[in-house]
Amino acid sequence: MPADRHYDVVIVGSGAGGGQAAYTLTMAGAKVLMIEAGRHFDPATTPMFQINGHAPLRGAPTPDKQLGFYDGTAGGGWTIPGEPYVNDSADPRRQFMWWRSRMLGGRTNHWGRIALRFGPYDFKPYSRDGLGVDWPVSYAEVAPYYDKVEMLIGVFGAAEGIENSPDSPPGVLLPPPPLRAGERLVAQRGKKLGLTVAPIHRAVLSVRQDADTLPAKLHPQNPKAQRILAESMRQRAACFWATDCHRGCSIKANYQSTTVHLPPALATGNLEIVTDAMVREVTLNAAGQATGVLYIDKKTGEERRAQGRVVVLAAGSQESVRILFNSKSALFPQGLANSSGMLWRYIMDTPQSSFHGQVPLLEELPRHSEDGAGIHAYVPWGFYREQRTGQLDFPRGYHIQFVTGRQLPSVTTGSGLEWLTAGSYGRQFKEDQRRYYGSLVGFSSVGEMVPNEDCYSELDPGVKDKWGIPVLRFHWQWSEHEVRQAAHAQKISAELISALGGKSPKAPETDGRKVLTRGGEIIHEVGGARMGADPKKSVTNAWGQAWEVKNLFLVDGATFASNADKNPTLTILALAWRTSDYILEQMSKGEI
Ligand SMILES: Cc1cc2nc3c(=O)[nH]c(=O)nc-3n(C[C@H](O)[C@H](O)[C@H](O)COP(=O)(O)OP(=O)(O)OC[C@H]3O[C@@H](n4cnc5c(N)ncnc54)[C@H](O)[C@@H]3O)c2cc1C
Ligand code: SF4
Repeated sequence: MPADRHYDVVIVGSGAGGGQAAYTLTMAGAKVLMIEAGRHFDPATTPMFQINGHAPLRGAPTPDKQLGFYDGTAGGGWTIPGEPYVNDSADPRRQFMWWRSRMLGGRTNHWGRIALRFGPYDFKPYSRDGLGVDWPVSYAEVAPYYDKVEMLIGVFGAAEGIENSPDSPPGVLLPPPPLRAGERLVAQRGKKLGLTVAPIHRAVLSVRQDADTLPAKLHPQNPKAQRILAESMRQRAACFWATDCHRGCSIKANYQSTTVHLPPALATGNLEIVTDAMVREVTLNAAGQATGVLYIDKKTGEERRAQGRVVVLAAGSQESVRILFNSKSALFPQGLANSSGMLWRYIMDTPQSSFHGQVPLLEELPRHSEDGAGIHAYVPWGFYREQRTGQLDFPRGYHIQFVTGRQLPSVTTGSGLEWLTAGSYGRQFKEDQRRYYGSLVGFSSVGEMVPNEDCYSELDPGVKDKWGIPVLRFHWQWSEHEVRQAAHAQKISAELISALGGKSPKAPETDGRKVLTRGGEIIHEVGGARMGADPKKSVTNAWGQAWEVKNLFLVDGATFASNADKNPTLTILALAWRTSDYILEQMSKGEI
């Protein structure tokens, strides 16, 4: 990249938000520079076909591969050498765990691909129960972007007419895979408890995309974009249901930025990517408008600048917040675009609790393939009526994800069964393993967190990373809302195990505190620079545009005003596309 080159847009980060912004902007003709802190990554090198037995320690997690040997994260995890973060409290339950990926494509290389839309209630939570805040956008405004994203990345699922879990228009979703035996059993028995089991929505190609018609729908009046997208879609194979999506997918059957967004964006000739480049701050002119970014070339340690008419931050919500803090100046002494004082507040994650049991009906089923693309079904939140009539002691809700069937064995398969095997040994132990393999059912709640004042970050006054950049210090505490929600999820999960005729090693926990995951542990962290209708109470407007710096935009989860019980990434993608359209419009009008 020539040092004096001036781009239309400089994007920081190449994950979900950055990938979508780069795609939308370059397809429309904007000249874009993407700056990525991680290393270059070619998804064709993904080790999809190895088995755990081929890996050191049979694939078990190690300090440098914290989700297991084959996890798709290259150069990242809860801890990264030389890139610390700090927690204010020594109490683990008040600490925030921060997962970062340092590779092209960010966390999209190994995310779970569960891609649920937020619903109409989710964008207006304050109006429903007086807690948190409403988003400055409605579901109806975001819906066309959900449609576009689902068509582009490929999402399987079904229209089920579930309250607050919107259906996609006909022709948008791909057909869902059939449910496994255990998933069918949960559906049948769950019905008796009034619970619905629906096909999950997942960013996986159950069939090949329709490369003949989708490109024209996504890029009307743009033949070049249509041609490039059609070619890109033809490069993607359909899933063959046999490997672990968390490793990434070398045949491009699931969505990751490196297989879906970046190849067509590069094919336009409008995108340049610089990897191993750690952005420290957004640079400003005397009028307080963004001029580009300052970054560290990680290979040489040198400071470099990139210049653009517009700057888009997509470094992952908390990293974007950190960049804004580190961009403070005489004009913005509290951090860039932070006169409202809202820049560090209201970080959210997904509260989760788990419960499992063993189901004799699933023992020793006829041997058949139970491979697939992770889970195929879930239990959507269905207690709206009980909530409206005051029968629940917490607001908002959770959906339940559950795992059944014979999974590809790992080093831990078969451990922790003593409560069933009574410590059997030798031949008996082997027989017990065969008997119980595939008969365990695990339920995990995926809940909504109500934003609270105790979850925030700030710059640590002393600690810096290896490039001398100040790091974040986190503060965290779940509120009673999440604690009570977790206890409810335990109770419902235990009822489900009983309805399946199963048993569990322990009783459901009534104190949600004891079973809630830690802050950040579910890796759905959002917030920290929320969008709003009032500049005094938010960092950006409804377009992710900083109120105080009109050529500065955020397209990751930092702008989330709430974090529904739907996993966040599909909404990050939809909002990033919407923001990118707005940037194009504002640039064409000469407003930015
Ligand atoms: C194991 C796992 C499972 C998950 N499952 C799901 C799921 O099923 N459904 C779901 O919705 N979500 C899931 N998620 C979360 C999902 O991955 C994130 O919501 C999503 O990737 C966020 O996109 P992003 O663009 O904000 O950040 P990222 O994808 O993390 O991308 C940010 C990029 O910015 C780069 N960057 C950071 N700092 C800088 C800097 N200073 N300078 C330059 N570049 C920088 C990073 O290296 C990274 O490449 C999962 C995550 C993990 C780890
Ligand atoms: S299960 Fe399908 S989408 Fe997932 S990695 Fe394997 S082929 Fe790819």
